[in-house]
Amino acid sequence: MAGETAAKKEPPGAWAPERSAKLYGIDDWGAGYYRVDPAGHVVVTPRADGRAVDLYNLAKDLEERGHAFPLLVRFPDILESQVRRISEAFYTAIQEYQYAGAYRGVFPIKVNQQRHVVEDLLRVGKPYQIGLEAGSKPELMIALAMPGQTDGLIICNGYKDPSYIETALLAQRIGRRPIVVVERFQELEFLIAASRRLAIEPIIGLRARLGTQGSGRWEGSGGHRAKFGLTATEMMEAVERLKAAQLLPCLKLLHFHIGSQITRIAALKEAVREASRFFVELVDLGAPLEFLDVGGGLGVDYDGSQTESESSRNYSAEEYAASVVSLLDEACKARQVKPPTIITEAGRALLAYSSVLVVEVLDHDKVDSSLPASVPRSAHQTVRELSKVLRHISSKNYQEAYHDAVELRDEALTLFKLGFLRLAERADVERLFWAVSEKVLGFVRADEYPPPELAGLESSVADRFYCNFSVFQSTPDIWAVDQLFPIMPIHRLDEEPARRGVLADLTCDSDGKIDCFIDFPKPKSALELHAPKPGEPYLVGIFLVGAYQEILGDLHNLFGDTNVAHVLLTDEAYRVESVVAGDSIAEVLGYVQYDRDTLLDNMRRAGEQSVQEKRLTLEQYRLLMRHYEASLAGYTYLVAENGKTEP
Ligand SMILES: *Cc1c(COP(=O)(O)O)cnc(C)c1O
Repeated sequence: MAGETAAKKEPPGAWAPERSAKLYGIDDWGAGYYRVDPAGHVVVTPRADGRAVDLYNLAKDLEERGHAFPLLVRFPDILESQVRRISEAFYTAIQEYQYAGAYRGVFPIKVNQQRHVVEDLLRVGKPYQIGLEAGSKPELMIALAMPGQTDGLIICNGYKDPSYIETALLAQRIGRRPIVVVERFQELEFLIAASRRLAIEPIIGLRARLGTQGSGRWEGSGGHRAKFGLTATEMMEAVERLKAAQLLPCLKLLHFHIGSQITRIAALKEAVREASRFFVELVDLGAPLEFLDVGGGLGVDYDGSQTESESSRNYSAEEYAASVVSLLDEACKARQVKPPTIITEAGRALLAYSSVLVVEVLDHDKVDSSLPASVPRSAHQTVRELSKVLRHISSKNYQEAYHDAVELRDEALTLFKLGFLRLAERADVERLFWAVSEKVLGFVRADEYPPPELAGLESSVADRFYCNFSVFQSTPDIWAVDQLFPIMPIHRLDEEPARRGVLADLTCDSDGKIDCFIDFPKPKSALELHAPKPGEPYLVGIFLVGAYQEILGDLHNLFGDTNVAHVLLTDEAYRVESVVAGDSIAEVLGYVQYDRDTLLDNMRRAGEQSVQEKRLTLEQYRLLMRHYEASLAGYTYLVAENGKTEP
């Protein structure tokens, strides 16, 4: 992927879109849903039939309709394709291994609780009998009340109090099939008591605390000291306790979850081996288990490397399914146990692909390495020396040259502070330093084994692309856990991206930036981008953001939810199914307990007073209040001059 563009000079227009595809790795991470077309735009092909939507034209269309950037575009058709892909992987494995049980997917609501998403999921998941998984009481409220569920299969995970459990039990009587998964031993007593009080037999699951660890960033979810699950001892006790309460016949499910984004298939296999043993042993003890729920964790190949790097995974959905099915089949056959229905709780893998965040570049700046007109003999010695360093850089001495330049720059700063260097001279030093840095960087890029010390040079010399969005709101995992998402311009891909840049967001937080981008074997610290053209929008897509980002996003600097559009493919082209307007400023202020009317009143009063005291003309007063009111009603992000960007 990398290094393709390194300063290779071609006549304008000679840059083939395929080179962009390769550079940004879109065919590696796009999973067939995203690619570059001959016109140099990113196109989206959500379905197997290959029908495509031009993402750039779509984004422009949506903007024309008043849905301003940043804009999150969701493709329910991709969601449907992912449901199919994963379900079919299991159906195929079941056939291949002649496994005598069935497969059911359940959707963990925590991955994206937005009503439109859950509704889409239930609609497209219908043919595949998708159920729901709730990880908390609020999520249970969603799961229970959503219409359109196949047979109401709901896996009830998370911490439970007696009211959670009673609600779940009673829901059996309104056509739901909630399986209450006991995650902590104490919940078993709540469950037994509630079942007695209500005279309703529960459907019980037990979560196993496996000794096997997951792999990747979330591997702490498994292992002997994991937060959830019953130990082997507790499992034994649970069986005894259920027997005594005459509820053992209600024990139907065994559950485990070794953490999100499992990077290595070997870790999953170990977990399935261990869980299968739990399963057959529990059956042996008299539990009529019908389901084995292998939890979530099916990984997404964010960086397209198909490796066990944290942003990837070294297996496919097909291999994942085959591993689960074959290992479970083996364990059941060995003990002549009836093979259970396999449940998965894949969330990330179902949802990640279906959303793209489109952001607009507002501004772009680069380091000024233009050379001082000439360095006269009379110039300050520091300036002359730095100029000499610049003249003598070569592939042999570039590291030393860089050290010298840093030293001279620091020296210049000291001289400036002490009053021995004029502002104009300091400016010369600044530009000469950047000129040296750029030259050194050229040698670093060309060097097969560049000194690790200079690894940070790329991002320090990189351009800054200021983008209309908030990392904290829209891609919180970049900030919180250094997650990588594929990022690339969605147009101009038939032009060489001659600049390298980092993305800066709107927040006034220095963490509000993206300076780590997918690449192999190591992420890169600057992204190839195009110099924006005046008067023409430059749009960048942040891809695979459908899982977790929306709900983990926060209101740092009070940037709120972005506009969201649901786009469905139709026979002719596409249809914008629904648009969810992003937060207005008044809404966001409401979250932190400010009342719009009170704020307006305060402004009015202060304004009136100033008019009385003749510090503000009536006209100015009117304009101030008009801006203030319109801003409260408007989008929290920057709004173009033409103002067609109400949320
Ligand atoms: C988070 C979670 C999931 C979903 O994990 P993904 O990595 O998104 O597939 C499934 N089950 C449980 C119990 C979870 O906590």
